[in-house]
Parts: sequence; structure tokens; C-alpha cells
Amino acid sequence: MKTFRTRLTLILMGLVGISMIAAGITMAQIFKSSHITALEENMAREIDLLSITFPFVEVSGNPEAENYYTDKAAELEQKADSRVTFIKADGTVVGDSESNPAGMDNHLGRKEIQTAGVDGSIGTAIRFSHTLNENMLYVAKRVTSSQGFDGYIRLSMGLHTVREGIWKAWSVMIGGLLILFAAAGLVSYRLAYGITKPLEHITKVARRISNLKYDARVRLKRTDEIGQLGAAINGMADSLQQQLKQIRDNEDLLQSVLANMTGGILMVDASDRIALVNREAERILRMKERNLLGRHYQEIKRSYELTKFMDEGISRKEVLKEERTIYDPEEKILHFDAVPMFEESGSYRGMLFLIQDVTEIRKLEVMRSEFVANVSHELKTPIAAVKGFAETLLAGGVKDEETMRSFLQIIYDEGDRLNRLIGDILELSKIESRRIPLEYAPIEVKPLFENLFEVLKASAEKKSITMQLEVPDEMFLEGDEDRLRQVFMNLLSNAISYTMDGGRVKVTASETGAEGEERIEFVISDTGIGIPRKDLPRIFERFYRVDKARSRSSGGTGLGLSIVKHLVELHHGTIRVESKVGEGSSFILDLPLLHNIE
Ligand code: ADP
Repeated sequence: MKTFRTRLTLILMGLVGISMIAAGITMAQIFKSSHITALEENMAREIDLLSITFPFVEVSGNPEAENYYTDKAAELEQKADSRVTFIKADGTVVGDSESNPAGMDNHLGRKEIQTAGVDGSIGTAIRFSHTLNENMLYVAKRVTSSQGFDGYIRLSMGLHTVREGIWKAWSVMIGGLLILFAAAGLVSYRLAYGITKPLEHITKVARRISNLKYDARVRLKRTDEIGQLGAAINGMADSLQQQLKQIRDNEDLLQSVLANMTGGILMVDASDRIALVNREAERILRMKERNLLGRHYQEIKRSYELTKFMDEGISRKEVLKEERTIYDPEEKILHFDAVPMFEESGSYRGMLFLIQDVTEIRKLEVMRSEFVANVSHELKTPIAAVKGFAETLLAGGVKDEETMRSFLQIIYDEGDRLNRLIGDILELSKIESRRIPLEYAPIEVKPLFENLFEVLKASAEKKSITMQLEVPDEMFLEGDEDRLRQVFMNLLSNAISYTMDGGRVKVTASETGAEGEERIEFVISDTGIGIPRKDLPRIFERFYRVDKARSRSSGGTGLGLSIVKHLVELHHGTIRVESKVGEGSSFILDLPLLHNIE
């Protein structure tokens, strides 16, 4: 930009200089010629004056004539400041102010004499004089005097005066030229500055835009071409900014869709390198995006199964689906999908792999089908009993009243059991599907247990079991009272059922946890038969019973502890069990004192 400005300044100044020099030369020419003309006219007038006033003497036959004219000429030169020559009509010099006429050659051939007319018109010539060693202007006129002179009077003058005049004019002109030049330079610079300054600004803005600073704008208040250029750049920046925003928004959207997808996504480009990985894929592969991007897919050594599936997908380039179990190190069931991607032109762009961790889903499916099998089995047993005894009675084989009664009692008990079983199944499914929300309210702990103990008193007394309650007064807990009652009812009736006659069942409650996060720990312990170590992790499973026959005889359904666990978890609590065979069991519940209910 600087060079453009200096170049422009130089061009403008050059133009001014050239025109000024041309003007100077023409002016010098005109000056010179007009000056010489004026000199010639002056000298002609002086000759005219001399022709009238000069005291001529007879030339022919006068031996003194030469001396006379020479002296006079010298006198005149003193006054007129020009060389004076008297020349006879035949060309011989009769007197000269500069040299001796005797030594001078015939002057008839001189241009000024030749051009001087007989009628008195002037003859002029400019010639280099070797005598005076300079350019001389000669002016001659024919003069005829009655006093005896017939010839030419010639005046000549050194042109140094002309040259001096021209020099003076030149120096004035050069001085003026320099001043003008400086002024022209200044003006040109201002002019160039006026053009280049906004261009510099526009360039700076354009450069910032190309450095991705899309908010840069040209600020010019002009409507000419430069202003229009600025406006065009601003328009370009506007549309760039808008497009970029659109691209960013789209990318954000895509990113958040990818990041929040519950499935893992992995894209392999045409050169078999990993081009895209989302958060879920990172989680499943337990590898970070930065360690995956750009790497060859075979470098993912995390899972042999996945690499094999990718091999197949990439070599076949068609939609594939597969489910594989991997050990990482725990068992995981992964569902793989492979989808080939093609450009509009049809050329292969890469493969998209979807990875879904279906371990939980498959586990649930297995549980569900097991549950269905269990339910049918559990239902079948009482139904078979009811049907069998009813058939025997209907066949009429049983005549004795007492046997008949005992059969009917069995039918009644099994019906009752069936009823409880169905009730528990419905209850469990209700809790699991969370169809009934909890209704939180403050519960006073002690009265709750006193009431439960009252209800269970009969069955405890039947087995001479001591019931102990160690709960502080004034202890409160937030929860759904009916649900918590169900929890403790189940635990206490189990404790009574699985404890031998003369045993003891105890309930304790104590506050734990830091301030603001207070919790209450309940322990329901018994001195019963206990639970074998191997069964401990499974007793909260549906229909799981340590001893099926015993559970049946105590009227259990095998669903009680599953219901308990669900309800405790709904209350954001935990339940665990500690037990030793033959010594007794303790169920330890940990429940939050308060719930943050909106
Ligand atoms: P059930 O209806 O059979 O009692 P639960 O789900 O309530 O079913 O209990 C599951 C199993 O856990 C029981 O069958 C029993 O074997 C064992 N169990 C539960 N509570 C106790 C306890 N207090 N002492 C010993 N075993 C228990």
C-alpha cells in the first residue's frame, strides 16, 4: 500500500514537473527571441539617431578619415556600450571601435551587411566573434550622408546580456518551480493519502475477516467507489457471519444429538480410519475420543468381537446386524449395527457403526421370562391341589366326614394361598411399574411398631416368641406410612416365621448421618434358623426361597422380600441382611429422615 501511495505521489509530481519544464523552455524561447528583437530595434534606432546627429566627414581621398572614424567609434562605444563600425559601401572598414580598420577584411560578405537594404531597412546577424570570444548581435543600416559618407553603420553587442537575462528568468523560474514542486508534492501526497488511507482500512478489515474475525466491519462514511467497496466487504462479512452461525448451530445440534444418544456411534472413513466417536461409544469402549480419532480401526484392541464385526462390515459394505457377548472383563451384551455411507455420486464414504449396550435389556428379558415361568409354576401348585382334592370329593369315594372336612380345609387353604400369591404378584407389578406414587407424610416411629406388634401378638404368642422394641420416643420419619408398614410387617412376620418356639425378635431404631442428611437405621433381628451364606445374595429375588417346603408351610409366597426391597428403594433407602445359620438373622434398613419434596 505504501508503494502505491508513493508511486501515485511520484506520478502526480512527475506530471507537474514535466509540464512546468515544458512551460519554462517555451517561455525561455519566447523571452530570448523577444529580447533579441527588442535589442535589434533599439540598435536600429541608435543607428538612425547616429545617421542624423553624427558629424560625418568626407571619406574618399581623405587620409585622416580612417583615424577620425576610428576615434569617433571608440568614443561612441564608451557611451553606447556597443561596438561601432563604419563600413564603406564597397565593404572596406573605415573605422571600428575595437580594432584597426587597416587590418580588417572586406565586410561586404557579412550577413548583416548583405541583409541591410539600400532603402535603409536593417540587416541583422548573430555570430560568434573570435575577436571578442562570444556570441554577438550585429545590426547594420545603410547610411548616406551629404557630408561625404556613403556606407553602413554597424552596431554590435555581446549577447551575454541576453544570456544573463535568460539566466535570471530561468533562476526565478527554477525557484518557482521548486516551490511549486514542493506544493505539488504535498498536494499529491494528500491526494494519494486520501485514496490509499481508506484502502488501507479496507485491507485491514479484509485481513481480519480472513483471520476468522467475522465481526470486523469497514467504517467509512462515503458513497463513492471506495465507499461501495467498503459496503461490499461489509456485506460479505455479514453473510459469512450468518452462514458461520448457521453452520455452528447445525454443528452444535448435531454434536448434542450425538452426545446425548443412548447408543454408541463410531464412523470409519473410506481410508478405514476413525472419523467420529460419540460419548456413549467412548463409554462402551472405555477409550477417549482423542485416542481414537484418526487411528486405523484395527488399532482398537478393546474388543476382538467389535474388530471382527468392523472387519466384516468394511469388507462387505452392506447393512449388518449382530449381537455379541464380550468380556470386558465383566460380561456385556453388545448389539452392533453397520451401515455403509455413500456420497451422492455413489462413491464409498465410510461405514457407520452403532453399538448398543443391551446387557440390561437382555438381563431384564431373561428375568421377565423367568418370572413368567416362576409365576406359572407357583400358580400351578395350589391349583393342582385344589383340582385334585375337589376331583376326589366329586368322585364320591370319601365317605368319612372328617376326611371330607380336611380335604375341604386344604382346598380352602390353597385357595387362600392362591389369593395371596395373586395379591403379591399384582402388588409387585404395581410397585415396579411405579403406578402408585408415594405419599410422604411425617410418621411417628414408635406407635407404628407398637401397632404392628399388636397385630402380630397372636402369632408370636403361639410360638412363645418374645417381641422387643427399642425405639426412642418422639422419633419421626418422613415416608409413605402404609408402604412402610407393609415393609416392617413383611420383615417381622418373616422373623416370627423363621424363628423356633421360645425365640426372640427385636426392633431397634437409631439416628445416623451428618446434619442435613440425617438418616434412620432400623434393625430387625431374630434368633431364628438363619440363612446360609450362599443364599444371602439371592433372598431379595422374586420367588427365591432357601427352603421351599418350609416357606410353603409358613404360608410364604417368596415375594415378600422383593416387595420390601422395592419399597425401601422407592424411599431412597437401602436394605441388607446379616445372618448366621442357627444363630439368627438381622435385616438392616437405612432410610432418609427427610425427603426433598417439591
Ligand atoms: P417367603 O414368603 O418365602 O417368606 P420372602 O421373600 O419373604 O418369601 O423371603 C425369602 C426367603 O428368605 C424365605 O423363603 C426364607 O428362606 C428367607 N428368609 C426371609 N426372612 C428370613 C429370616 N428372618 N430368617 C431366615 N430366613 C429368612
